[in-house]
Amino acid sequence: MVVEVISVGTELLLGNIVNTNARYLAEECALLGLTMYNQTVVGDNRGRLSEAVRTALDRSDIVILTGGLGPTEDDLTKETCAEVMGFPLVEDSRTRDRITEYFKNSRHPEIPGNNWKQAMVPEGALVLDNHNGTAPGLILEKGQKRAILLPGPPDELIPLFAGQVKPYLQKLRPEVIVSQMVKICGVGESKVEEELIDLIDRQTNPTIATYAKTGEVHVRITASASASETAEKLIKPVVKEIKRRMGTAVYTARAEETLEMAVVRLLKKYELTLATAESCTGGLVAGRIVNVAGASDVFHQGFVTYSNKAKRKLLDVSKSTIKKYGAVSKETAKEMAVGGAFAADSDLCVAVTGIAGPDGGTEEKPVGLVYMACCLGDKVTVERYQFRGNRSKVREQSVVRALDLVRRTILENHK
Ligand code: ATP
Ligand code: MG
Repeated sequence: MVVEVISVGTELLLGNIVNTNARYLAEECALLGLTMYNQTVVGDNRGRLSEAVRTALDRSDIVILTGGLGPTEDDLTKETCAEVMGFPLVEDSRTRDRITEYFKNSRHPEIPGNNWKQAMVPEGALVLDNHNGTAPGLILEKGQKRAILLPGPPDELIPLFAGQVKPYLQKLRPEVIVSQMVKICGVGESKVEEELIDLIDRQTNPTIATYAKTGEVHVRITASASASETAEKLIKPVVKEIKRRMGTAVYTARAEETLEMAVVRLLKKYELTLATAESCTGGLVAGRIVNVAGASDVFHQGFVTYSNKAKRKLLDVSKSTIKKYGAVSKETAKEMAVGGAFAADSDLCVAVTGIAGPDGGTEEKPVGLVYMACCLGDKVTVERYQFRGNRSKVREQSVVRALDLVRRTILENHK
């Protein structure tokens, strides 16, 4: 079944607001197993909107429109869709009652005249109650074609979609769609694709899609079947096979688990504590760990040691090491990790030191060169990276690698 989205609003065309509704709807429709080939943005103009709706209904089974359902003159979506699909507008008494109720409970009990416009709906439309605003959502059906009209504000659109549109769309498709995410760290997208290419090429049900994130690759496996148990059965062996091929690069098979959550989970599992010693990442690694609720059980202390003096004073990095090898070196990273674990009295410490740029690079040590070290007990692992991109990209990638280094160090130690 083919679906498309029309986002209505001159504000979108001018770049005054970001089209987060389209992003949300696209993702949700993909999860529902609907196919999307087109998205359109159109201003608050009756003629151009008419044309867009006509074109969309011609080539797609379902057209979702967002915005332009409000009470003002430039809100034209409902009127235009009704006209294109040939439905007269009639008053919906339930919506009228809801508007009265909505204003009774608000700070402005006087109901502005133009709000009654919202009680008018295309004849035969399914009216979706909007509990966060006055404009109801609407579903218009004509033959095999459907138009779904939703208000623009995301805090109205999302609950309406999740609560009422999604079940409606699910009913249109007899199959259920189940998907699972496998998250991979430390391996590039092309390498992941290479490893999984035969699975990807062979795919029909389940389907496999890879998404590149900073320092990570997420693989979504989606299956459709008449019942969710059957779909899950189709997914299971594929997930198992991906895990087998990618090994410990897979940090989770749960969609909601982030890399830092996986790190905290492992620390808790093995009853280990962590400290961070950061130079170029300036506390970002610690910040990601503290993102996780319950991090206090495992996270002791974060050092932000930007200057050489701070590295010496707080982490006991020796003066001669910095002098001989430089602050961005294998040796300094190692001493930072060991010194940090000692100072924080923690089992592990991860250290990051690098050249984030744009200045400070040399031929020998170019911008993007980052050393990291992680110590656990008397074992220290040091890694060298050469990242590409601007300052923030270098720092972001360093954080992901540092978190992953902690994860790998723990796994290595508990084989
Ligand atoms: P209202 O009753 O608030 O007028 P509406 O359905 O008429 O709702 P619009 O007037 O088109 O919607 O937009 C109202 C607000 O909703 C915008 O100012 C913007 O903040 C938000 N909005 C609209 N469209 C989008 C979109 N595509 N993505 C994200 N936000 C949006
Ligand atoms: Mg409006």
